[in-house]
Amino acid sequence: MAKPLLSVKNLAKHFSLRGGIFAREVDRVHAVDGVSFEIEKGETLGLVGESGCGKSTTGRCVLRLIEPTSGEVTFEGRNVTAMQSDELRALRRDMQIIFQDPFASLNPRMTVGAIISEALIIHKLASSRSEMEDRGASLLRKVGLNPDHMRRYPHEFSGGQRQRIVIARALAVEPKLIVCDEPVSALDVSIQAQVINLLEDLQQEFGLTYLFIAHDLSVVEHISNRVAVMYLGRIVEIAAARDLYVNPLHPYAEALLSAVPIPDPKVKRKRIMLTGDVPNPINPPKGCHFHTRCPIRQMPLCGEKAPELKQAGDGHWVACHLRG
Ligand code: ATP
Repeated sequence: MAKPLLSVKNLAKHFSLRGGIFAREVDRVHAVDGVSFEIEKGETLGLVGESGCGKSTTGRCVLRLIEPTSGEVTFEGRNVTAMQSDELRALRRDMQIIFQDPFASLNPRMTVGAIISEALIIHKLASSRSEMEDRGASLLRKVGLNPDHMRRYPHEFSGGQRQRIVIARALAVEPKLIVCDEPVSALDVSIQAQVINLLEDLQQEFGLTYLFIAHDLSVVEHISNRVAVMYLGRIVEIAAARDLYVNPLHPYAEALLSAVPIPDPKVKRKRIMLTGDVPNPINPPKGCHFHTRCPIRQMPLCGEKAPELKQAGDGHWVACHLRG
């Protein structure tokens, strides 16, 4: 079998909270707590879960925008977690990230042309001004914008157009993997579908691989080949998208899916309402992190031992003592 493009093993990120005059560690946020997954070349892995479950932290650790506490990230067989700064700089060309808020990720004082050229200059990808302009114009066309927009500033565009500029900037360096961190969450629903379609088209054209982060299962449904569901720092289920949508095994994945609207009014899905708040990641519950809110919790073991991800079907893995 071909080696995965990206492999993440036992990734953990604990943020220290410091206080007092000596800034000693007073608490630790267990943002990511032993996450493992692989992504094949050309594949899209959706990563979903409620706000605060550690999705963005996972994405940023993969790119080493923040340092993981432990675990290993391998990209094309190279150990990203052990890379020195010059190797990491080169890696930034292969791995890009798109954030939720396109306005915050574009410098308001730079024209669109300058924003795209900056990426080309950093990675020495254009030898002359005219080549830079040609590349910029071609990228804008690829993301459905007019090349004449090069001389405009980010505030002159709508939210959807700004996200297209961010995508053009990411594409400028010809990446292999893009971490899409909630790229459509800040956009109107009608625009969300357009941006997702654009990302799909670009994936086909350039053979891109995506880690696509969202808090809503309905957003990742169409774009993902496989979906991983995260709860309080851990992956609780990972499966081919169609298997997860038809047959979710983990009670948390089941509850998330029950909130996804079905377009056919004749088909009814029973809504599962979870009770209680998401526990504090400073002090996550012992055992299965989900047991304090689990509608099917039946065993003392659930509160004692963290369930491991176990294979429950072809490519379908679940971390649940009852359903694993
Ligand atoms: P959202 O969709 O709201 O961004 P998320 O699933 O992406 O949520 P993260 O942003 O990864 O979650 O955050 C995971 C946990 O880590 C949260 O409890 C968050 O408050 C905490 N956290 C994130 N960054 C830091 C930081 N720099 N210092 C301390 N805690 C942090």
